[in-house]
Amino acid sequence: MSSPPEEPIKEYSNGEVTVIWQPHLCTHSAVCVKGLPRVFNVRRRPWIDAQAAPTEAIVQQVRQCPSGALSYWLGSEPSA
Ligand code: SF4
Repeated sequence: MSSPPEEPIKEYSNGEVTVIWQPHLCTHSAVCVKGLPRVFNVRRRPWIDAQAAPTEAIVQQVRQCPSGALSYWLGSEPSA
């Protein structure tokens, strides 16, 4: 049996924070969409706009993702 291909991990940065979204973990609970609709908008492509809210607000919302699909690092590059 072969496993389904995993969707690639997506990254969205505003230069201060980089939001990482792992589609295969997302349970589509819409917590992010309801909590910060300016940033998380499934009607738009790309659906995450890291420029649309202050970094602190994005970080707070990412932390509330119940599935772990959303994560972040501060800065535009991952730190070691
Ligand atoms: S909060 Fe997390 S699990 Fe829910 S829709 Fe957003 S990314 Fe997916």
